[in-house]
Amino acid sequence: MSASDMTLAPIPLGEPAPRRSLQARVVWGDRVVTVGGDAPVRVQSMTNTDTVDVIGTAIQVKELALAGSEMVRITVNTPEAAAAVPEIRAQLDRMQIYVPLIGDFHYNGHRLLTDFPEMAQALSKYRINPGNVGKGDKRDRQFGMMIEAAIKHDKPVRIGVNWGSLDQDLLAQLMDQNAQRAQPWEARQVMYEALIQSALDSAAYAVELGMNPAQVLISCKVSGVQDLIAVYRELAKRCDYPLHLGLTEAGMATKGTVASSAALAVLLQQGIGDTIRVSLTPQPGEARTQEVVVALEILQALGLRTFVPSVTACPGCGRTTSTTFQELAKGIDDYLRASMPLWRAKYPGVEHLKVAVMGCIVNGPGESKHADIGISLPGTGEAPAAPVFIDGEKALTLRGEGIATEFQALVEQYIERRFGTSGTS
Ligand code: SF4
Repeated sequence: MSASDMTLAPIPLGEPAPRRSLQARVVWGDRVVTVGGDAPVRVQSMTNTDTVDVIGTAIQVKELALAGSEMVRITVNTPEAAAAVPEIRAQLDRMQIYVPLIGDFHYNGHRLLTDFPEMAQALSKYRINPGNVGKGDKRDRQFGMMIEAAIKHDKPVRIGVNWGSLDQDLLAQLMDQNAQRAQPWEARQVMYEALIQSALDSAAYAVELGMNPAQVLISCKVSGVQDLIAVYRELAKRCDYPLHLGLTEAGMATKGTVASSAALAVLLQQGIGDTIRVSLTPQPGEARTQEVVVALEILQALGLRTFVPSVTACPGCGRTTSTTFQELAKGIDDYLRASMPLWRAKYPGVEHLKVAVMGCIVNGPGESKHADIGISLPGTGEAPAAPVFIDGEKALTLRGEGIATEFQALVEQYIERRFGTSGTS
């Protein structure tokens, strides 16, 4: 087949499948975060502070929100924690951080939501784990009390099933049924079914009790990539509720980041997932905001949303024996990220900026021309000059020790000119 064969059909554009779910509204004051339907896939995170520590928790919520988290979940596990929630909310409001707070309830949520109405009101959404709401005849009653609170305070709920706390009665029942099959399913398949049934039965019961179906979100979290993909594909077929997506207990650092990215990318590409959370275990000294950074990067890499300017950098090779271009790429990336909280308001659209930092002449000029502003550093043996390309044209050449500082200044000038309110485009 020749390149000039006019019978070739165009290769379909790479793009995710459309999403297909009801839309929930998570509200605090004037801030309305829609979830599901045609809303963008939302980013969620969770604090790891003691909720009783009002200031510590409010500061971490603020950090997560400024990093890009659109909703933040906090543990509400004791009466003291429940009493702290309105204070955390008030502290955030004083700091002008209006991110909706989600309460995470297990075991005693029915009691806390009933006994602490100010807490129930200060939260914007409740997470209910059907595996942890009580046993036997208490289960429905206590679940019902939580749904009553959600209806009374007009809050959405997430029915959040987790395989680590799966409803054991339901699992035992499904295992018994499985034993009767002529060809029993694998144990993992029974577990998948139990996760989905637990979520959907609980959601149906919430609706029966009067919840608006659009205000019911579902999650079925597991810690294996293939398990998560299998469960969510089936879950998406069986319901139209907005889906919260995340690989639970993903792990630390590279392992957790890669596993979450692999699982979420497959599902998001299929249009499955309306909010995401990346459950990373922070390494000692690592900021909690790393889970938000990874979530944003997943959505941005898939082309689903754009949050921060992108820096295209080559991996380097034997043509670049110095670390100059690595340092320059990291410096620019750090600078763009750190500036975003301020720039979001000051430079509307700046998140679409594309910067290239390339290591040598092989791909440097070509890649730099594709960016809004790019620099091609000299490789080993090349003349010590770094051409800078702006809007696809070579604009100037930098030389000497101050290349990094001068390039950053050029990026700043470009942003001001293009995205500043007095800009021309
Ligand atoms: S652009 Fe140059 S330095 Fe970078 S990877 Fe390609 S050949 Fe190597």
